[in-house]
Amino acid sequence: MRNDARLETIAVHSGMEGLRELGQHIPPIDLSTTFPLPDVESGGEAYEQLAMGGDLLPGQSAVYQRLWQPGVARFEDGLAALENAEGAVAFSTGMAALSACLLASVIAGKPHVVALRPLYGGTDHVLETGLLGTTVTWVDADGVSAAIRTDTGLVILETPANPTLELVDIRRVVEDARGVPVLVDNTFATPVLQQPLDLGATLSLHSATKYLGGHGDVMGGVVATNRDWMTRLRQVRALTGGLLHPLAAYLLHRGLRTLPVRVRAQQETAGELARRLVDHPGVLRVMYPGLPGQDPAGLIGTQSRGAGSLIALDIAGGYASAARFAEACELITHAVSLGGIDSLVQHPASLTHRPVVPEARPGAGIVRLSIGLEHVDDLTADLVGALDAAVLSTPRSVSATG
Ligand SMILES: *Cc1c(COP(=O)(O)O)cnc(C)c1O
Repeated sequence: MRNDARLETIAVHSGMEGLRELGQHIPPIDLSTTFPLPDVESGGEAYEQLAMGGDLLPGQSAVYQRLWQPGVARFEDGLAALENAEGAVAFSTGMAALSACLLASVIAGKPHVVALRPLYGGTDHVLETGLLGTTVTWVDADGVSAAIRTDTGLVILETPANPTLELVDIRRVVEDARGVPVLVDNTFATPVLQQPLDLGATLSLHSATKYLGGHGDVMGGVVATNRDWMTRLRQVRALTGGLLHPLAAYLLHRGLRTLPVRVRAQQETAGELARRLVDHPGVLRVMYPGLPGQDPAGLIGTQSRGAGSLIALDIAGGYASAARFAEACELITHAVSLGGIDSLVQHPASLTHRPVVPEARPGAGIVRLSIGLEHVDDLTADLVGALDAAVLSTPRSVSATG
C-alpha cells in the first residue's frame, strides 16, 4: 500500500501485510495459547522483550498468547493505520482498555484524572468509585486548565459525548491540559470521522464492540497511541490479562474493512431522520450535532468529518413517555449498545447511566438511537409509530379495555 493511501484503502488493506507471501488471502485464525521455543536462550529473550511491552521481532517465538497474538497484532496495526497512530493495543472490552489506561497512570505515580462530563456510564462509574486507585476532578470544557495538578495523569473526554451528543473541542482541551496526556473516547466518531491524535490527543480509545465490530456479535476494546504508551499498555495487559481473543480479533479486523462505508451510510440516514423528527410534536428536542445551531463552535468540518449516526431525543412527557417509546419501537430493537448495522434504542437514565450520580444523569425523557443500515423510510415509520403510541394516543391498555 502506498504511503498516501486514502482512508477507504487503508481500511481494506491495513494489517494484511505479508499474507500474499504466505499464499493467504485473509488473516489466519491461530488459536495457539503457547508457541514453541526454538531454544532456551532465544525463548528467554523473547519472553523478556514481550513482557516489557516490545514488538515481536522477526523469527522470534511469540512465547504465550497473553504476551503476543499474531491476529490481535494484525487488528491493532489496522486500527493504528486508520487513527494515524504509531500503534494500538487491543483488549477484551472497551472497559478493559480504559482500565489499562487508568492503571498505567496510577503505576506511573499520576493517579489524578481530570474528566469532562458527560461520559459513558461505565467510565463515569469507574472514575467516581476510584476502584482502580484514581481520584477524579469533574469539569466542563472551561474547567480543564484550573483542575490540572502535578499528579494529574490523564484528561478524559468523549466527543460526541454520551448520551446527549454534545461536541467537545479536542484541540482546546489539549492546550488547557498543559502537557498532561489527553484520552479521547473515540467510540462514537470512529477514525472515519475523527482522528484525535492528529489534534494533539495522546490516546484514542474505542469500545470496539460498537462501530469497529459493527454487527453486534463481538466485544473488544482498543487504544491507538504513541510508542511509549503502547509499551506501557502492553505491560499492563500482559500482567492483568484483559486480552482480546483471536476469534474476536478476526471479526474486529474484518469489521474495519467496511467501517468507512458503514459509518457514512448510517450517518446519512441519521441526518435525514434527525431533520424529519425536528418538528414532531412528541419530541421536545432532537439532539444531533448535524442539526442547525447544535455545533456552535463549528467543530464539524474542522475537528470531525461529520455528525455520526447517533441521535438523542427528548420525548415529551418525561420518564414514562420515554420508557413507553423505547418499548413501542418494533423495527428498532430496544437494547443497549450502538454502532451496529441494525438500529437500536435505549433509555440512558434507567439503563447505561443508572450508576451516574443524579446531578450528572441525563434527562429522564431522553432516549438514544443508534441508526443502522435500514431504509430511512422504514425507520421513520417505526419512530413515528412509537411516538404516537408513547406520547400522542391514549395508552393501548386503556383503549383495549374500553
Ligand atoms: C460501550 C462503550 C464503552 C465500554 O465498552 P465495552 O466494550 O462495553 O466495555 C466505553 N465508551 C463508550 C463511548 C461506549 O459506548
